[in-house]
Formats: sequence, structure tokens, C-alpha cells
Amino acid sequence: MTGTGSKASVYQTVVRQFERAADTVKLDEGVRKILSTTKNEVIVHFPAKMDDGTIRMFSGYRVQHNDSLGPYKGGLRYHPAVDIDEVRALATWMTWKSAIVDIPFGGAKGGISCDPAEFSQGELERITRRFAFALGSNIGPEYDIPAPDVNTNAQVMAWILDTYLSTMPPQERNRSVHVVTGKPVEAGGSLGRDKATGQGVVYCIEEWAKDNDVDLSQTTYFVQGFGNVGSWTARLLAPFGATLVAAEDHTGAIASADGLDPEALTEHVAKTGGVVGFPGATPIDHETFLSTQADYFVPAALENQITAETAHLLNVRMIAEGANGPTDLDGDRILGERGIDIIPDILANAGGVVVSYFEWLQNKRSEFWELEEVDGKLRRRLVTGYARVRDAASEFDVDWRTAAYIVALRRLERMMRRRGIFP
Ligand code: NAD
Repeated sequence: MTGTGSKASVYQTVVRQFERAADTVKLDEGVRKILSTTKNEVIVHFPAKMDDGTIRMFSGYRVQHNDSLGPYKGGLRYHPAVDIDEVRALATWMTWKSAIVDIPFGGAKGGISCDPAEFSQGELERITRRFAFALGSNIGPEYDIPAPDVNTNAQVMAWILDTYLSTMPPQERNRSVHVVTGKPVEAGGSLGRDKATGQGVVYCIEEWAKDNDVDLSQTTYFVQGFGNVGSWTARLLAPFGATLVAAEDHTGAIASADGLDPEALTEHVAKTGGVVGFPGATPIDHETFLSTQADYFVPAALENQITAETAHLLNVRMIAEGANGPTDLDGDRILGERGIDIIPDILANAGGVVVSYFEWLQNKRSEFWELEEVDGKLRRRLVTGYARVRDAASEFDVDWRTAAYIVALRRLERMMRRRGIFP
């Protein structure tokens, strides 16, 4: 089990990544100044009633980085490490992500600094509803649209939806269902949203395999984080015949040279709360986990996992970043020196926001798309985004992360220059 990730400023990492790409493309100075800072930052302190009748205070955040391309969009995270620095970083990454896959959304992120494992379902519901109430009109279906992230899920989105609609005038309610995405399908969600981020990671891995003449059925890989993104990535890789040889989550790490069955491991995690104790697997320590010999590694947990201390341990050809910000600046440099390919987070995990966009569109149009339609459209967005990043990497002779930023920054620059600055 890893720590919660060093809290060395994640936002500083984003700023440095941004500056490197902005220098490379000689980004317009005005655009650079605007994108260098977040637009709005909301911090709310709110009470919630615990099961024993006591009141606890919580701190919640919503940071809106940029809305040049469309309404603010981004997940809500419930985790003890949530603070303004982390939320700023995550909000900024959302702006780049939407730009790369060309969807009309800006970037935002939010969360509550808390450990949801401490609370009953009833407490979590009351915390969530008070948070949504405290955010009030800082979110809205045409303004800022939350979605799930670490430790939040479709149920949390359904509570936010219900709270938001309950505070609307009755005639507005049916027009506001798209205030959150990642909802349960019965409450206006889209087919395919649950698996969307993992699906996007797998589409990227497929493209990488094609580019590098790799037969996925002969590949081995390991995953850090076996929640939404990690487990779906593994379940969707299984039909290709790829072998999952190790997995880690907050309970510890396990390995099996013969392969871990992703479906059975998902069931085990649902039943026991973590990967540890999975029948037939060997428990391993964190260092052994990171040193696993495999073709690729999918970090799908928290930030700052691949650093100066850990990057030399990795024994893979490629890293597909399911998580946001799993690699810090030193980690990036070391992986580059070692010739390890990276499919960067703002491309690899963009599948979630793409299907969130599809859900938002379906709600606005009162439509319901079949899964094949959702998957087909998602694949096209990801494959196109992947090709744009690959082309920018060769045009500017830069690493893939910088290339991904370049794709995003050029898209934003075109839009912002056309619109100009008010007044
Ligand atoms: P989740 O809450 O479903 O799962 C998180 C996983 O991380 C769990 O398996 C947990 O045990 C593990 N984890 C937590 N602390 C850990 C630690 N110290 N060491 C090892 N593992 C640890 O969250 P998720 O939605 O799967 O998100 C995972 C990552 O993917 C995050 O970086 C998130 O921002 C990113 N992401 C998620 C989505 C989405 O649609 N859910 C979209 C884009 C990016």
C-alpha cells in the first residue's frame, strides 16, 4: 500500500507542465496569462448531522479553471487529502482534457476533505446533500456540471441531483437533470458511463499496441487502484487475452504469475473492500509491486506515485495513466531517460468526460442512446485524440505529455483569440 501520495504541490506540477508546452508552441502571452490561473474558487464550510445526533463541520471545494470551450465540468472527490491545491490541479487538468478530445466543456473539480470509510450511508447522504446545498448556484446544468471521482459514485450523483432539483422552482426541474453526470441509468444516466474511463484507457492501449506492433493477447500488465477506473480497465482488457499479473489498492498489493481474473477480483473487492486476500494470489509489498516485470502499468489511484524515488523501479515498456497526475516532474524525466512510453492522463483517462458529455447531451435532447452508439462515439473521440497527440509529439519532437498539452493549448488559443477579451 502506498501513502496518500506526497502532498508536494500537485498544482505546481500542472503549472510546470503547462509552461513547458506554452514555451514550445510560443503560446499567445494573453492566453498564457489567462490559462495560468483558475477563474473561480469556492470553499464552503458546512454542517452535517451524524447518526449519533452530533453535528460535524466539513470543508468542501469547487474550483473552476476555465470555461472558454463550454460549461465547467469535472468530478467530485471525497478523500482526506483533498485541499485547494489538489482541486486546483485537477480542475486545470479537466480543461486540457476536454480540449484534447474536442468536447465543448471547460475545466472544474471539487470535493470534500473527509474519509468516507468513517461514515454510514445515511451520513454520506446527509454530507452530500448539505455540500450540494452549500454549493448552490455555483453548479448548474449550463454552468458547472459535477461527476464522480475518487470515492464518489452514481449514488452520490443521484443525491446531488435530487438536492439541486428540490431547491429549484417546479417549472425548472425537468430542464435541469443534466446538472450532474455519472448518474444511475434509472435517474437519467447514460449507458456506458460507469465503464467509460476504463474503456478510454483500453482504446488508447489498443492504439499503442497497433503503433508498436504489439499483440495484446501476449501482454502482461499490472494495475494500481482497483476502483472504477482500475477494475474496468482490467475487465475490458480481459477479452483481448492480456494477463493481469499484479494489483494494488489502499489495502495492499497482490500478484499472480498465472494471472488474476479481473471479474473475480472485482467481485472480491465489492465483497471485502479491497484486493488483499484474493484467493490464489500472493501478497507483495509496494516496492515489489512497482518492480513487477510486465509490458505495461496502469496507475489508476492517486497522484504522485511515479516519482524520483519510484520511477527507477518500473520494469515496463509503457504506462497508461488512468489516474490524474500519477507521475510527477522527476518521475516524468526518469521515465523519459529510460525510454518508457507514457500515454498521459489528460488523454488516457478522458473517456469519462467524453461519456459525461454524451449523458449531458442525451438529457438535454430527451434521448437515450444504445450502448453500441455510446461506445462507437467514444472510440472515435479517443482514437482521434490519440492521433492528435502522436502527431504533435512528432511535429514538435517532444514527449507525449507535452504533446498532449500542445494539442489542448492550440485548441484553446484558437478559440480565445477569436473571442478576444471583454471589454
Ligand atoms: P475509486 O474511488 O473508484 O477508486 C480509487 C482506487 O484507488 C481504489 O481502488 C482505492 O483502494 C485505490 N487507492 C486509494 N488510495 C490508495 C493508495 N494509497 N495506494 C494504492 N491504491 C489506493 O476512484 P476512480 O474513480 O477509479 O479514480 C481513480 C483515478 O482515476 C483518480 O485519479 C481519478 O481522478 C481518475 N479518474 C477517474 C475518472 C472517473 O470517471 N471515475 C475519470 C478520469 C480520471
